[in-house]
Amino acid sequence: MKVAVLVIDMLNDFVTGALKCERATRIIPNIKRLVETAREKGVPVIYTNDTHLHAVDKEFQVWKQHAVSGTWGAQVVDELKPAEKDYVIHKRRYSAFFATDLDLLLRELNVDTLILTGLVTNVCVQHTAADAFFRGYKVIVLRDCVEAVNEETHTTALEYMKTFYGCTVTTLSDALTLLGQT
Ligand code: ZN
Repeated sequence: MKVAVLVIDMLNDFVTGALKCERATRIIPNIKRLVETAREKGVPVIYTNDTHLHAVDKEFQVWKQHAVSGTWGAQVVDELKPAEKDYVIHKRRYSAFFATDLDLLLRELNVDTLILTGLVTNVCVQHTAADAFFRGYKVIVLRDCVEAVNEETHTTALEYMKTFYGCTVTTLSDALTLLGQT
């Protein structure tokens, strides 16, 4: 098993900006602990960041403008800034695989298992889990490192990913144990 940690959309616009998720601050220290451990163990850390084109992006038919390329809102929150050896993938849709080279990167790293963290559980995390499942990756979702706008959408999405994509839904504590063994 070769693992990578994905940090999905921990951007200013989703934490305190245009599409603020009130519950997001809860997971910041947990993700910080996970990525620091991953770096120590040589486990790849991959940030997948919403990076929309101004005005034309189709997502803006559903959501107000957010994470526009080059703006503060599209930057990772200060507490979780990528380290020099981390990877950063820019995406324009919910899924981190859609029209990005994430799959190519994972193949180059020989990764077969993804640990998903970030925002939000029932949108970008869930769509990324779906695309990972379709491509044959094993997916681990940490319930205390992902969040949504409320508890119901959060837990419903976790249950959906477990049932339909075979995701392992577990906790930071279990992931730290797993990283200790890799
Ligand atoms: Zn977006």
